[in-house]
Amino acid sequence: MPPRPIVSPPRRITRSSLARFRYGDNSSGSKENSTPPPADIEDIIPNTTAIRKRKRTTTLLEASSTSPRRTVKTEEEVETKVTAPPASRRQRKPARKTVDAKTGEATVSAPSDWEEIYDAVKAMRSPGGVAANAAVDTMGCERLADTTTSPRDQRFQTLIALMLSSQTKDTVNAIAMKRLQTELPPHAPGAPPGLNLENVLAADAELINKLIWAVGFHNNKTKYIKQAAVILRDQWGGDIPDTIEGLVALPGVGPKMGYLCLSAAWDRTEGIGVDVHVHRITNLWGWHTTKNPEETRLALQSWLPRDRWREINWLLVGFGQTVCLPVGRRCGDCDLGLRGLCKAAERKKVLEGRKTRESTQVKKLEDDGSIVKIEELKEEETIEKDVVVNEIVKDEDKELLTTTNQFKGSPETSPKQRENVPKRQRKSNKT
Ligand code: SF4
Repeated sequence: MPPRPIVSPPRRITRSSLARFRYGDNSSGSKENSTPPPADIEDIIPNTTAIRKRKRTTTLLEASSTSPRRTVKTEEEVETKVTAPPASRRQRKPARKTVDAKTGEATVSAPSDWEEIYDAVKAMRSPGGVAANAAVDTMGCERLADTTTSPRDQRFQTLIALMLSSQTKDTVNAIAMKRLQTELPPHAPGAPPGLNLENVLAADAELINKLIWAVGFHNNKTKYIKQAAVILRDQWGGDIPDTIEGLVALPGVGPKMGYLCLSAAWDRTEGIGVDVHVHRITNLWGWHTTKNPEETRLALQSWLPRDRWREINWLLVGFGQTVCLPVGRRCGDCDLGLRGLCKAAERKKVLEGRKTRESTQVKKLEDDGSIVKIEELKEEETIEKDVVVNEIVKDEDKELLTTTNQFKGSPETSPKQRENVPKRQRKSNKT
């Protein structure tokens, strides 16, 4: 029987045996223990991130009349140290309701960046802005009344313009209004022709329908106009109602038309006229999540300062007609997209827009004559013909090539290519 190996019992771990690993303990004098204890991993890794970047710089030089344009383009490797975490994303908060715990009073806070957005849109809608010159500026319902007629007739015309405007473009609406203003016959001999209550009451429904045929739902609108004319004559003394209740009681008139009519015709703003543009765009911005224009109106009215109630319709309708289009939004031209204010901005368009804007700014400086951007002017390579090297040409193709060359000229007619052709072959080509 072989002798059993001697196994020493496991060493007992005691407090004193672990003491030699104690932080800062050099008492043992051993080499191992004399080295400082390892630092914490968080202390070892610095709070900086080194990013190697290849940076291309283009030098901007003073233009001078004597020196021609030069190209100075440098490329260097730059090491950037980022010590802080990236800036936090912009916080966007929609309109929100809060209830005061003490008083129980409910207040609605405005969306976090509404004023910045509002001012940016206003700047875009101003003369020279990207959203200036919208159809609504010249052909909006507020502008279609004939100013040569009496104030009462003008109010009536504004109401009719609004009744015609639903589901219809401003341009088409303006044409229909013009026809009514010029082609409606007078209700009595000697009376003025054109669009007024008396002429509408006297006119045949068929004639009105014919004059407004271009607008959407013209059959229904003709019916509503005739019915409304009777109500105005019988209940409102021949004028249009001066209350929102009276206006929305007319056939075919909803809150949007009612509030717009009240402010345009009577210069009284008691509510916001919310059409599809206002509803769509404010939802895109994340100001609220509403299902229809009426919900949007109530949401906006709960926090938007009253002095903007009239203006916002004009602002956003024009903005929706020119920049934030229902189909094909121009986010690359929109300041909201470029400044990162719109959460619905189309990223690709915005990036392209930023590039275009940067190059335009440089060009502007150039036009001033003060600074010239010097850029490497690369000679463009022009590929005239793909040359296949060592191609095996079949016999029939050779024949075809020869025939074609007779008509089109040999491919090796350029001076550079001619140099590569042996002299003997060049001679044969000539003959
Ligand atoms: S960035 Fe685009 S989606 Fe946003 S408001 Fe401008 S056009 Fe409309």
